[in-house]
Amino acid sequence: MENVCIAIDIGGTNLRLCLVDGAGRVLFRERQPTDIDRGRDDFLGRLCSGIARLKRKGAAEGGRVVGIGVGVPGLISNEGLVYSSVNLRPLEGLNLRQQISETMELPSFIVNDANAWAWGEKCFGAGKGMASFLMLTLGTGVGSGLVLNDRLWTGIDGVAGEFGHATVEPAGRPCRCGNHGCLEQYASANAIVSATLEALHKGGDSCLSATSPMEITSAMIADAAAKGDALARSMFDEAGRYLGIAAAAAANMLNLEGIILGGGVAASFGLLVEAMRREVVARAFPIPARRLRIIRSELGDDAGILGAAAMAMAGN
Ligand SMILES: [Zn+2]
Repeated sequence: MENVCIAIDIGGTNLRLCLVDGAGRVLFRERQPTDIDRGRDDFLGRLCSGIARLKRKGAAEGGRVVGIGVGVPGLISNEGLVYSSVNLRPLEGLNLRQQISETMELPSFIVNDANAWAWGEKCFGAGKGMASFLMLTLGTGVGSGLVLNDRLWTGIDGVAGEFGHATVEPAGRPCRCGNHGCLEQYASANAIVSATLEALHKGGDSCLSATSPMEITSAMIADAAAKGDALARSMFDEAGRYLGIAAAAAANMLNLEGIILGGGVAASFGLLVEAMRREVVARAFPIPARRLRIIRSELGDDAGILGAAAMAMAGN
C-alpha cells in the first residue's frame, strides 16, 4: 500500500484539493470557489466534505492517506492558528489545524501559502539543490518564504518571511499592512498596473494608451514589454530595481544561495532579473552578491500544493 496525502490550497478565489504521492505527483485534483463570504461554518463544511471525498478516493485507489497539508494566505502560527488573513477574514482566530485534525482524524499541517510554495520548490522544484534560499511570490501581493539550512524558517511565532512588507521606500506608497513603501507596493501585479496607469495618465507614450485604463492588466503590460514597448519595459525595470534593493539586504544579512521568483509577475522573469541583478551588485558586498543566484520557480501553480503535501508526508 502506497502512502499518499491530501494537499490543499485555500486561495482567496479558489479552494483546491489534491491527492498527492510521496514523489510529488498529483494523482487527483478538484477545485471549487472558496466562497468565504458564505461564512466560516459553510466553508469548513465544504472543506471537510472535500477532504472526506479525497480520503475515500485515496483508499479506493489502494493508497494509505497519512496526513493533510494546507496552505493558507495570511499570518499562521506554528500551531495552525490563523492570526489574520485579509482574504479569509471569517477564518481569523480559528485553529485550523486542530479543527481539521479532529474532524478528519488525520494529522494535519497548516502553513502560510508562500511558505508552502517555498517548501514545494525545495522538495520538488528550483530549490532542490539549495540549502538556503528566499522564495518570492509576485502575484496580487508579494509573498515570501525562507528556507535556511534545509528547513523552512517560520520564526518564533510562525509569521516569519513577510519580506513583501520590507520597506524599500521610507516615505513611499501606503500599504494595506499599515506601513509605507513596502516591496509589495512596487513589485506586485497590482503595483505594476498602478504605476503603469500613472505613467499613462501623465501622457507616457505606449501601445497601451489605446486600451481603456480599466481593462489594463499586468499580463497585458508584460505582453507589451515583451514586444519592446519602452514604457511597459520601464515598469518591469522599476519593479526589478525594488526587488534588487530588498534582495541586496537579504544577501548581506543571510548570504543565501539564491532567490526564486514565482507568481504571475515572474512570467516576465527576463525583464525583472536584469534590473534586480544590477541593484544587488551595486548594493551588496561582492561575496554574497556573486553567490546569490536569481532563478525562476519551476513548479508554478502547483508549488504550494506540493509543499503542503511534502509537509503532510513528512509529518511536520
Ligand atoms: Zn506592507
